[in-house]
Amino acid sequence: MTTPTYRIAAIAGDGIGREVLPEGLRVLEAAAKRFGFTLEVRHIEWASCDYYQAHGQMMPDDWKAQLEGFDAIYFGAVGWPATVPDHVSLWGSLLKFRREFDQYVNLRPVRLFEGVPCPLAGRKPGDIDYLVVRENTEGEYTALGGVMYEGTEREIVIQESVFSRHGADRVLKFAFEAARARQRKHLTVATKSNGIAISMPWWDGRADAVGRDYPDVTVDKQHIDILSARFVLQPTRFDVVVASNLFGDILSDLGPATAGTIGLAPSANLNPERKFPSLFEPVHGSAPDIYGKNIANPVAMIWSGALMLDFLTQGQGAGRAAHDAIVKAIERVLVEGPRTPDLGGKASTTELGQAIAALVAAG
Ligand code: ATP
Ligand code: MG
Repeated sequence: MTTPTYRIAAIAGDGIGREVLPEGLRVLEAAAKRFGFTLEVRHIEWASCDYYQAHGQMMPDDWKAQLEGFDAIYFGAVGWPATVPDHVSLWGSLLKFRREFDQYVNLRPVRLFEGVPCPLAGRKPGDIDYLVVRENTEGEYTALGGVMYEGTEREIVIQESVFSRHGADRVLKFAFEAARARQRKHLTVATKSNGIAISMPWWDGRADAVGRDYPDVTVDKQHIDILSARFVLQPTRFDVVVASNLFGDILSDLGPATAGTIGLAPSANLNPERKFPSLFEPVHGSAPDIYGKNIANPVAMIWSGALMLDFLTQGQGAGRAAHDAIVKAIERVLVEGPRTPDLGGKASTTELGQAIAALVAAG
């Protein structure tokens, strides 16, 4: 029997991306060895601010052709504001991947682990365990609009949102499927149909239309303001949450913040049809303030790697087993240590990576 091989483009990017990515790969290699698959990893030096300084752009012109053949992109973090403005580095790399590779689902699991201090009083593991599904390519994030009567008292600015039926339906469908696959089969739809009087009632209508195929899924539509409050006050209400680009962006930072350190939160930017490579990255950024000290928490990167294996193998066989083994190893290390400083310990990035890799290897 031939073992499956997955081709991974590893892009460390900037700052702590360069420190956590090797730990993610260390754990993936341990999982590959144990569960019988092969990872063909190619390291890519561009999509970084160093590359920008040398070439005046974040990526080579043929970046798309270079990446297209990979099964997935394993991405560290981008941004080094001391040399390149953040909007330049972001729009010049990560946002190009999301849009040109049609990664229209941004998936962010939120979970409170045992052993991790929770900023919400009285919460225990199990109280916070949900999945945020964010629309990743359209909606409120456009460059459509402009300023009129600029510099005068009459100055007006208009910024358009663009939702398409195709775009809304496909992400809603993904969210319904995700809810169906979970035990509670509950989907919260983020909306604001009282204030945003055209696009949000329309979004609610698309949720109803897509939901007709999912009578087994319970749907709860909530306005974004009260929904945000409930993330803090009643996190047990949530199972899967689906939201437009802007609302999803906000929720997927708020959620992980309620579950402890940002150093744990993973994300997947998915092209579910697999026409293009999907991208897996920690939620956190390049953290220039702690770069170079080997103290960044590598768990978000490692967990993102587990999501990658699960997606590549469509949740089947060795990939699912490897995903579960990695998550189990993370759970154990968060309880027993070692701990990086953000978790109240003194351990290094490398020590945490090695500890998790050792647990994955040992089974
Ligand atoms: P971006 O805009 O790229 O998402 P950001 O500018 O919002 O990033 P981060 O780079 O994520 O911010 O850093 C925010 C704070 O969280 C910083 O103080 C940073 O040190 C801390 N932080 C981020 N990632 C980690 C990590 N993996 N381990 C420990 N601390 C982290
Ligand atoms: Mg930043």
